[in-house]
Amino acid sequence: MISVTKALKEIDQNGIAKKKSKIAIADALNLVLAENVFSPINMPSFKQSSMDGYAFIQSEEHVFVLKGEVQAGNGTNISLRKGEAIRIFTGARVPDDADTVVMQEHTTVNEDVLRIEKMPNFGANVRPVGEQIKKGQIALEKGAVLNEAAIGFLAGLGVAEVVVFMPPKVGVLITGNELKEVGEKLNDGEVYDSNSITLKLALQKIGIDEAQFFKVKDSLKATAEIVEKALKTCDVLLISGGISVGDYDFVKQALEENQVEEIFYKVNQKPGKPLWFGAKGEKRVFALPGNPASSLSCFYVYVLPLLRASLGFQDNYLRRKKAIAAAEIINVHGKTLFLKGNVLNGIARQLKGQASSMLKSFAVSNALLIVPDNVEKIKEGEEINYIELL
Ligand code: AMP
Ligand code: MG
Repeated sequence: MISVTKALKEIDQNGIAKKKSKIAIADALNLVLAENVFSPINMPSFKQSSMDGYAFIQSEEHVFVLKGEVQAGNGTNISLRKGEAIRIFTGARVPDDADTVVMQEHTTVNEDVLRIEKMPNFGANVRPVGEQIKKGQIALEKGAVLNEAAIGFLAGLGVAEVVVFMPPKVGVLITGNELKEVGEKLNDGEVYDSNSITLKLALQKIGIDEAQFFKVKDSLKATAEIVEKALKTCDVLLISGGISVGDYDFVKQALEENQVEEIFYKVNQKPGKPLWFGAKGEKRVFALPGNPASSLSCFYVYVLPLLRASLGFQDNYLRRKKAIAAAEIINVHGKTLFLKGNVLNGIARQLKGQASSMLKSFAVSNALLIVPDNVEKIKEGEEINYIELL
């Protein structure tokens, strides 16, 4: 059995390789840039008006003769002299000769004569070429997370494709004779499989949409066979259940038969003590305890960081924060506790129902409160670390 700290270190040191791929920007939401993106153009690429108004050459003059107009999208360069102005609109090309745009609210017009009532500063309302970014400059750096603003920014520069870190191929193997699918009739002794959907959605939330699901009964032969099959296609395999010490827990043996090397088995924690982590070549396997709250807790604490690191995130862990304990928390067995809790305005409360079979408390928690193995008691009013849930 190893400590939580050691387990986290092992996972950190045994991550999987990041995979790069060039994809369309519309498919890159929430992915991380694997290479710098350079701007292929100046933005704006022409001298651009930021107002509806009139473009002119600044002098002492307040009265101008109007010489025509330029709409947005019209590339014509109208030549101007001192004392002349043109009607112009937001986003339109400012003539080369003009240096300033006056907003129309500050003018009066009589036929083709323009009078500027409130003279703007020299250069006002004109966006110079490359004001936002110049051609060849870095638009977004490697490591940037592509949110909708970032993707819009790249679209504005005419960038159609980006090189990003691709999600790893994840497989989920659900074990257990007693499991029935939602919608099926539950006989005595059976339970609904909730880990499938919880893990599927937890993966989706971190950008892994296409996990492959496998199911197997509690048989060594069948488990060994399905592990072999899953390892052919997956970079990371998550196994639910069958990793404890019961007579029908065959996962550990099935992994051994498939030459998956154990990196650690059993962590000094509650919930999730039987967690198993191992490797076969470049592939990684997590065997998660089947109890629903253990399985999800282990996913957040151990699986998520490895997957997010492979997606290129620098901040690959869920955020750790501090709060004040609302009441005393006792830790009797010298294990690290991950307690389903609620943190509101900096005050942390432990929820009722911490058993590893119970998702009821998890369902309404926003934090996993952490009590380290070497801390016997956190007193009311003392600081407590917690993991913020997404
Ligand atoms: P195991 O880790 O296989 O010994 O399972 C521990 C407990 O978790 C047992 O009570 C199982 O019935 C339950 N369990 C295992 N897998 C699932 C699952 N996919 N969904 C819900 N409960 C499960
Ligand atoms: Mg089982």
